[in-house]
Amino acid sequence: MLKGKTAVVTGSTSGIGLGVAKALAQQGASVMINGFGEAKEIEALRLSLERLSGAPAAYQDADMSKPGEAAAMIMAAELTLGKVDILVNNAGIQHVSPIEEFPADKWDMILAVNLSSSFHTIRAALPGMRARGWGRILNIASTHGLVASVNKSAYVAAKHGLIGLTKTVALETATTGITCNAICPGWVLTPLVQKQIDALASHQRMTEGEAKAKLLAEKQPSHDFATPEQIGGIAVFLCSDAADQIRGASLTVDGGWTAQ
Ligand code: NAD
Repeated sequence: MLKGKTAVVTGSTSGIGLGVAKALAQQGASVMINGFGEAKEIEALRLSLERLSGAPAAYQDADMSKPGEAAAMIMAAELTLGKVDILVNNAGIQHVSPIEEFPADKWDMILAVNLSSSFHTIRAALPGMRARGWGRILNIASTHGLVASVNKSAYVAAKHGLIGLTKTVALETATTGITCNAICPGWVLTPLVQKQIDALASHQRMTEGEAKAKLLAEKQPSHDFATPEQIGGIAVFLCSDAADQIRGASLTVDGGWTAQ
């Protein structure tokens, strides 16, 4: 379905971003991945994406907390892959702490990576999409873009902001072939969530299994994690012709979290 299309997925060396990159490659898209990790492992991922898609795959180590690097990555993708048809803003980090103790530098970093980087990549990618008359912008927000939880002030503020940015870009492109939407996962078992499970287990002297069950029971009525593969499937759907009139939406994938 995506043969001949190119995609940039930020923060795609693990977790949800990797799930999305694989799903797009499986549909034939040429993908540029980004994020931190071991050079050898990243090269193995890049090669596996080429095998999946039968098209070139690339990697850029741009740091999404740095505006210049975020914009430069889009230009690098245009040079290396020829164009950017699909932009998935996925890079994200978390810090959990009551606001009085929340370090100011962590606030700045979370806002930079989880929100501002999307402004910079969208701003750089839109002119090319407009010139070609087609584009898909997917912002990986969160249930925390729709509702809050304690001790996540920066994350919740950034994700609410990302949903606002999504709606604005969708309106600015409403009469074009470019759509902009947000995906709002609940708990997905990735390294980002594993850290929170480990912290809960050690803080409350629980086993890992008990900590997982507690996290799910508190928020996710399905009592089950969503998977990176499922988020990848939704990204593919949003890139399809069937999704042409889905604009400025926030699609929840949260086992019922926000239905409560
Ligand atoms: P993860 O920690 O597994 O992956 C994060 C990715 O971002 C990695 O590839 C990492 O290298 C990269 N990254 C981190 N900082 C970066 C930076 N400064 N520049 C470039 N890349 C950077 O996390 P995940 O759980 O897969 O989360 C991915 C996105 O999904 C995030 O935006 C997160 O907020 C969102 N999300 C996750 C969940 C969940 O339950 N896991 C739920 C809702 C939303």
